[in-house]
Amino acid sequence: MNKILYVCSEAFPLIKTGGLADVAGSLPAALLSKSQDVRLVLPAYPEVLSKIKKQKIIAKSQYYMQSVNIIETKLPGTKVITWLIDCPAAFNRPGGPYTDQHGDEWHDNAFRYTILCHAAVDLSLNRLSINWQPNLVHCNDWQTGLVPALLSLYINSPKTIFTIHNIAYQGNFDQQMFNDLHLPKELWHMHGVEYYGKFSFMKAGIAYANKITTVSPNYAKEILTDEFGYGLSGLLNHRKDDLSGIVNGIDEKHWNPGTDELIVQKYNQQSLPQKVINKTALQKELKLANSKKTPLIGMVSRLVEQKGLNLILEHIETIISNNKVQFVILGAGNFHYEMLLCELAEKYPKQLSVTIGYNEALAHQIEAASDLFLMPSTFEPCGLNQLYSLRYGTLPIVTPVGGLVDTVIPATSENIQNNTANGFMLEGDNLVETIEHALSLYQQAKTWKQLQLTAMKAHFTWKNVAGHYIQLYDSLKSS
Ligand code: ADP
Repeated sequence: MNKILYVCSEAFPLIKTGGLADVAGSLPAALLSKSQDVRLVLPAYPEVLSKIKKQKIIAKSQYYMQSVNIIETKLPGTKVITWLIDCPAAFNRPGGPYTDQHGDEWHDNAFRYTILCHAAVDLSLNRLSINWQPNLVHCNDWQTGLVPALLSLYINSPKTIFTIHNIAYQGNFDQQMFNDLHLPKELWHMHGVEYYGKFSFMKAGIAYANKITTVSPNYAKEILTDEFGYGLSGLLNHRKDDLSGIVNGIDEKHWNPGTDELIVQKYNQQSLPQKVINKTALQKELKLANSKKTPLIGMVSRLVEQKGLNLILEHIETIISNNKVQFVILGAGNFHYEMLLCELAEKYPKQLSVTIGYNEALAHQIEAASDLFLMPSTFEPCGLNQLYSLRYGTLPIVTPVGGLVDTVIPATSENIQNNTANGFMLEGDNLVETIEHALSLYQQAKTWKQLQLTAMKAHFTWKNVAGHYIQLYDSLKSS
């Protein structure tokens, strides 16, 4: 059994901005179910505090003259012991975890997440009189990158794993910030936290962790290249032997069309024809033309360049004007994309519905209602939405990048023949042609059903995923 301190900046259902929260909300519970002793560490944002029931302060500390309480609770819906780092100066404010109400990064993010890291280090070293010491510390994304760096300065500190969920967000700050935070000077060098004269949290994690993982084998390969490595491919190549990729799972409690309470009509592989009831209900709800036969393409996404918004905006009118298809889009992000999509929805109200905002229930309804799911990302570390789509028999249309390659098998005639096809993959930027191909297969009911059933059979369970992480953890025990 391992004793694992799992450190991250968001975890579903307490706080979520993206896929990281889904992972942190599921993996610790799956590890627990496989007899690992795991504790989750998370900042006590106001939203988090408002959602927890039982809580008690189990330790106190102080960083940068700010008092910090360690609050113990359980991750709702699980037995995972969760330690919240309650430092009001850093985390108690309105807005998102990383950005203010206007979407601008908090000016003091380096300070905020250094506090999270200091607290995690103290917990790792059992310095807060809690009487529990991990043998492994699993850190996630840049917000936790200083943990492996700081722990490297101690003899006999726990081994560390650093998981990259998205290398594009690195937490880079000025050197002055490093000095102001009084971080140990011995970390400041080109093999440490220094990154072209800047101070980089992400680089710290990669440089100092004992093992580095990312969320799909294909992304693990891609980040070794200049194109996808965002300036860190050199260091990653240097650490290649310690780098691996493990595809995420999905939370079957929340994402299962057979039990999903948020959708109008539950269905499974046997009752697949009932899926269409979700489509007509959503068409009605969103005031799209009511038609069982018209293929519906869904999209639930952060509206940022990474998610292929430029490509979509370039071609969506061509696709819509063929009058053969409907789109339903849910997302929030870049104001420019939000505005352009809303303008298009006004122009084509019967064919295109755009909802700006974050809406968990609607996300489920879109997965259940749609025939196809659009995800033409420019890069995609793992991607969860294509996994949900597969589970819901909603065939994903994806680009050949990152985890999309590891999980979507394109409907070529050969793959259809072999019963392995479960979606569609662009070649270059042939979005229009790929959608045309999908729509032509949609007209072949038997083939379509076969594709859907193959998709629904794919099982990305957290239990399996946890097994892979445990193998990695165990390999660190013997090293
Ligand atoms: P990323 O982490 O890059 O945003 P993923 O596909 O890995 O992309 O995960 C996105 C997660 O966030 C999914 O669970 C998806 O359903 C959810 N999501 C994204 N945007 C919204 C939204 N506007 N409303 C509801 N859920 C959303």
